[in-house]
Amino acid sequence: MTSRTTQAVIAGGGIVGKALALALAQAGVQVLLCGARPAAPTPAAGYGQRVYALNAASRRFLDGLRVWAQVPAERVQSVERMRIAADGAELVFTAYAQGVEALAWIAESDALERALDLALQFERGVSSTPASLDQATREGALWNLQLADGRHTSTGLLLGADGRASRVRDWAGVGLRSKAYGQTGVVCNLRCAASHGATAFQAFTEDGVIALLPLAAQGGQSQVSLVWSAPDALAAQLQADGAKRLAARVQEALTLLGAEHLGPLQAAGEIGAWPLVLQRAHRLVGEGVALLGDAAHVVHPLAGHGLNLGLQDAQALAAVVKARASSEGVGDARVLRRYARARAEQVLALELATDGLHRLYAPGMQWLAPLRALGLAGTNHLAPLKRWLAGYASGLAVLG
Ligand SMILES: Cc1cc2nc3c(=O)[nH]c(=O)nc-3n(C[C@H](O)[C@H](O)[C@H](O)COP(=O)(O)OP(=O)(O)OC[C@H]3O[C@@H](n4cnc5c(N)ncnc54)[C@H](O)[C@@H]3O)c2cc1C
Repeated sequence: MTSRTTQAVIAGGGIVGKALALALAQAGVQVLLCGARPAAPTPAAGYGQRVYALNAASRRFLDGLRVWAQVPAERVQSVERMRIAADGAELVFTAYAQGVEALAWIAESDALERALDLALQFERGVSSTPASLDQATREGALWNLQLADGRHTSTGLLLGADGRASRVRDWAGVGLRSKAYGQTGVVCNLRCAASHGATAFQAFTEDGVIALLPLAAQGGQSQVSLVWSAPDALAAQLQADGAKRLAARVQEALTLLGAEHLGPLQAAGEIGAWPLVLQRAHRLVGEGVALLGDAAHVVHPLAGHGLNLGLQDAQALAAVVKARASSEGVGDARVLRRYARARAEQVLALELATDGLHRLYAPGMQWLAPLRALGLAGTNHLAPLKRWLAGYASGLAVLG
């Protein structure tokens, strides 16, 4: 079965792929989105396991796509304070001192996807299918594509938003630099005895990086989402011991986190686990092809920036496509080069920052603890540096 040529085909119906489809359609491009499975329904109680800290640039982008308004406000928690603890020192950011509405917004992955699905239903420029893209070959100026449901189509612009094991990357012949961190991201929602006060807590410990992201209270019950970047062996142990024991282990770390008042903690769901890697595609673009999101780069979650980077990829790509000259097709090499240039700095900066922090606080670096503590405490007293860091983390410093 053969269908007509589509202006742009996206492989990958995760958050980045869905947001990209909307952004391109709103830029006047006709899009086929492959691998778009509908989001899980709203759980009867509690929160989905996977939550994200979205920065101001991501929120602004989702606002512009008319998606943010569809994420139920009662399921979103703004972060007004961020406490980062290490070696007995502390670095604190507040929205008030930075002069911003919030440092970040915590939202469930599923709630974001449901909002994206709703917006996609009304977007006439996008046709989506749950079928994945099975094969892609380059012929002349086009990509010939085969979908898992047997359909064939072709396009001048193939977009890989198909995650860390991207096949689009392989079809485009783009190499990959990859390093396993030897850590696993262990996540679990926890009920707290007291309010988190809209604060995100993070501690660099000998057992990895422990973060508690505040979730919106439900029925007066305060909750946090745990993201523990734990060495693989410890992570396996935490998973084997189960959620109840995990809550007790996190409870023991509350003092380190500066969050004693949250205890006692109780597990509010199952444990999830993701192996942590640093990955970077050698190139973001090729002939008639571009990579976005985890297909292009995977960073350590300690700064909570992977999805933010992916959303900003989608925004940048849609912007260069929209601004192209009338003589340029959507997959024109000049257009794609502009995308690659637009993304180079932020991707590299975040990769260096997250990887650098991971190395600095790695178990073998304990001898640096006094210097690290000095650095953290010093940074805490340097308001201009803190403003710059917060501005960069918001993503707005890059996008303008
Ligand atoms: C523990 C942990 C915590 C994190 N916390 C944060 C955070 O707080 N903030 C943040 O910004 N980021 C965070 N991240 C990073 C974030 O999870 C990822 O960067 C983000 O999910 C990447 O989205 P994506 O759409 O690029 O890829 P994915 O979510 O992997 O989506 C890819 C999609 O493509 C589909 N697909 C694959 N192959 C094909 C194909 N051939 N055809 C069609 N479809 C295909 C897949 O089924 C999937 O639906 C965290 C990561 C981890 C591990």
